[in-house]
Amino acid sequence: MNIPLALAIGGLLVTILALLALWQKKISQAQREEALADIYEARERGLDRPVAQHPQINTQSCIGCASCVDACPESGVLGMVDGIARVIQASRCIGHSLCEEACPVGAIQVGLGDSPLRADIPVLDERGETSVPGVFIAGELGGLALIRNATKQGVQVVDAVATDLAFERGKKPAGGPIDLLIVGAGPAGIAAALRATQRKLDYLVIDREDVGGTVRKYPRRKLTLTGPMEMPLYGRLPKTEFLKEELIELWEQIIEQYSLNIRTGVSFLGVEGERDAFRVQTSDGVIEARRVLLAIGRRGTPRKLGVPGEELEKVQYQLIDAATYSNEHVLIVGGGDSAIEAATALANQPGNVVTISYRRDQFFRLTARNRERLEQYTGKSIRLVFNSTLERVDNERSVILSIDGDPPKKARLENDFVFVFAGGEPPYPLLAEAGIRLGGDVAVPVLRETPRRSVPVTP
Ligand SMILES: Cc1cc2nc3c(=O)[nH]c(=O)nc-3n(C[C@H](O)[C@H](O)[C@H](O)COP(=O)(O)OP(=O)(O)OC[C@H]3O[C@@H](n4cnc5c(N)ncnc54)[C@H](O)[C@@H]3O)c2cc1C
Repeated sequence: MNIPLALAIGGLLVTILALLALWQKKISQAQREEALADIYEARERGLDRPVAQHPQINTQSCIGCASCVDACPESGVLGMVDGIARVIQASRCIGHSLCEEACPVGAIQVGLGDSPLRADIPVLDERGETSVPGVFIAGELGGLALIRNATKQGVQVVDAVATDLAFERGKKPAGGPIDLLIVGAGPAGIAAALRATQRKLDYLVIDREDVGGTVRKYPRRKLTLTGPMEMPLYGRLPKTEFLKEELIELWEQIIEQYSLNIRTGVSFLGVEGERDAFRVQTSDGVIEARRVLLAIGRRGTPRKLGVPGEELEKVQYQLIDAATYSNEHVLIVGGGDSAIEAATALANQPGNVVTISYRRDQFFRLTARNRERLEQYTGKSIRLVFNSTLERVDNERSVILSIDGDPPKKARLENDFVFVFAGGEPPYPLLAEAGIRLGGDVAVPVLRETPRRSVPVTP
């Protein structure tokens, strides 16, 4: 090749590289501005604050690869600012924890942060042990939602118990207390039973209802997202999304295949005694156990609103089968995922007119999928009434809403059914009677972000 041609090609290459670098810089700058605008907006709308579990980023270890941002299936939780991952809308995190798995350097953790200071969450150590030595908690009762988390925690607690008991195994008297009583046969309890079988513990699971926990109560054919998930003995689940009925069927098969020791229709009423010698009161008599795992979820009894007319039969607290409702005027009370899933399922049936009444001025913590579905129906078969509360269920054909504003208003709506999704009454009395401490005034160490660079990250 002659020299002038080589110089020309070299010059062209340098120019292309320079242009590429400039373009890249422009993109990063645009991304930065976009992320800052998102952070600012999230703060304005109060969405930056976590409601429960949320990602916590160690900015000193973050290498800025954005794997966590790409892995999160919920839009807007994470973003990149100045080459570092940032939490933008903490309230939108629903705890998939895929960011945690995707991070190649372990710089992100999904947890409750300082939420354990909340008075509605039991204080647990890293093994899931409560303030009563020997009594453990796994699953949603501990504050972390999702089937995958419940499963993981059920396994972790049994591992902790098995390790403890391994030291004392030789001393176990014949006919004495069982090693472990697991209360609740939801995802946490089933996983715990599998692990207890694997670790050769002498255990029993009791549940006041049937196996499957909250999942069994989902609406008919609800799509249930589990993500990639492993169960002890069984291994990896074949899919990451199931119809509710498929997941229950799979669990029932697993329970049979591994002959899990589960007694349904038995309620836990309380526990007394101490490590190695607990006496657990149940509706079926006293069970003696060395350790107790409470995997009873948080839904307990549905929370009531305490309004006149609530006792009418048309007021319900769960929707099992939307297909049985058509040409009805339905009021949904609540603004969480359960409320929106019920509303959109009902709005999808012919002739239904659905009103969602929510006490706040916007929805805070919906999955991206539910947001999208809601948008499809809003203004068509779904009407939203924010800043409103149900005042009374007046008679068989109407309800009255109070709507905040200046001046406040009242609205009478035609109505055939009311579905209340105000969450469950967590089993506080049971926990309190057992001496289990909840958060609130207890200092718990939390992972804090430490600034790595002097580059400003505040909008
Ligand atoms: C409508 C809805 C949709 C959801 N969708 C998803 C989803 O798609 N993907 C996902 O990962 N998560 C989803 N979740 C969350 C998920 O269902 C829960 O996080 C999970 O079921 C918690 O499991 P758990 O084992 O801790 O408790 P639970 O599933 O609540 O099980 C607790 C068990 O304890 C039993 N129990 C309670 N009290 C007692 C007592 N005193 N004595 C004896 N037994 C007792 C109950 O009968 C129950 O069987 C959804 C939740 C709802 C409400």
